[in-house]
Amino acid sequence: MRQSQLFSKTLKKIGNEKEAISNQLLLRAGFIDQTTAGVFTFLPLGFKVLKKIENIIRRKMEESPISGQEVLMPVLHPKENWQKTGRWQQLDILFKVKGSGGKEYALGPTHEEIISPLAKKFIFSYKDLPFYLFQIQTKFRDELRVKSGLMRTREFLMKDLYSFHTSEEDLGGYYEKVAMVYLKIFEECGIYNPKALKDRVTYQTWASGGTFSKYSHEYQTVTESGEDTIYICKKCYAAINKEIKDEIKLCPNKPCDSKEFEERKAIEVGNIFKLGTKYSLPFDLKFRDKDGKEKPVFMGCYGMGIGRLMAAIVEINHDQEGMIWPKETAPFQVHLIQIGDDQKIKKATEEMYLNLQKNEIEVLYDDREEKTPGEKLVDADLIGIPFRMVVSDKTLSGDNVEIKKRNEKAVELVKLDKAIEFLKNNFN
Ligand code: ATP
Ligand code: MG
Repeated sequence: MRQSQLFSKTLKKIGNEKEAISNQLLLRAGFIDQTTAGVFTFLPLGFKVLKKIENIIRRKMEESPISGQEVLMPVLHPKENWQKTGRWQQLDILFKVKGSGGKEYALGPTHEEIISPLAKKFIFSYKDLPFYLFQIQTKFRDELRVKSGLMRTREFLMKDLYSFHTSEEDLGGYYEKVAMVYLKIFEECGIYNPKALKDRVTYQTWASGGTFSKYSHEYQTVTESGEDTIYICKKCYAAINKEIKDEIKLCPNKPCDSKEFEERKAIEVGNIFKLGTKYSLPFDLKFRDKDGKEKPVFMGCYGMGIGRLMAAIVEINHDQEGMIWPKETAPFQVHLIQIGDDQKIKKATEEMYLNLQKNEIEVLYDDREEKTPGEKLVDADLIGIPFRMVVSDKTLSGDNVEIKKRNEKAVELVKLDKAIEFLKNNFN
């Protein structure tokens, strides 16, 4: 893509310097635009990142051991469904809307009220279980306070997976698999380091579980802009959410039992939950077991906020100059920058642009004529594409391009006809 044609422009400044760093950088670099408090547009660069994250998650949801099937449930939920679970009254963040003839709806903040009656239409006997459905969809929540940009919004994309089982044991086994895959997703997105003990960045965290199960698990990414507080065990690095810390004196990660914790601010990027029969009972979701008896279906739900995850990636991967996108979630792989505009430079850069495209390397080409070299380099650091490739008089004098990784200081001169090979060798 030619940067001269890019719809969004980088901004020198945004209004509030106290904002979370991810929000400042995403706004300044033109990845997102705020429509109103807690409501955002994803601009072309941000949309590309969103799709990358979605695809990582989708692949992990579809492949074994999750084996989920993707569906798309409605946003508009009939009031009756929410009355059945009592949540029409209980849930203070529920957006309620009135349609023609006074019919009332909720805008879905989560989808248990839709998926439970849906599952009832297809579950009859134990042979129909287990199964797993997920969607990637917009949720609405009338959050009291919205802050920190994409981290807390009133409209946001969530991946939600629901599982249906014949027994608590089967649910437990699946829950463990989802927990493992969640960490893999965060690793691929550049916010979980499985090798590090002390600096994992994202921690699987014990949190309150509700009626069925004592605990649920959250995935908390450590950042000063986070609204949650977690306690990280100094011995085994397991984490506990503050909300349940008073109940837990010793590290719950058996057989650790340590008493010493470090307190950190964090943001919840995911949450997995054993629902048990909480929603199967109100929706009469049952199956006929091998022994001929009717039994309630056991359910689990597993959420992950996609916009929030995007912000968390930036919270973790940035420096003074701007964002540093991990290659898996970067909007482009290469930022090609033309320095100087005489014909020779222009021709060489255009050729490189075509060549990169021919080789299916995603490239943003800074062909803007009105920008100084300095401005172009500053923008490249702000946008944070993994590789910067500069073509200038100086590089061309030796038939070279200059290649620099966004997360490293060193620059390397590479022959024009070896540049593609160099990139391919350095992608991993
Ligand atoms: P929080 O405690 O931060 O309000 P939650 O526990 O209510 O979140 P869940 O119902 O567990 O959220 O939703 C699953 C995931 O959706 C969360 O882990 C988070 O990543 C994302 N999420 C929830 N609320 C928001 C929001 N207002 N804006 C953006 N993402 C959100
Ligand atoms: Mg949660």
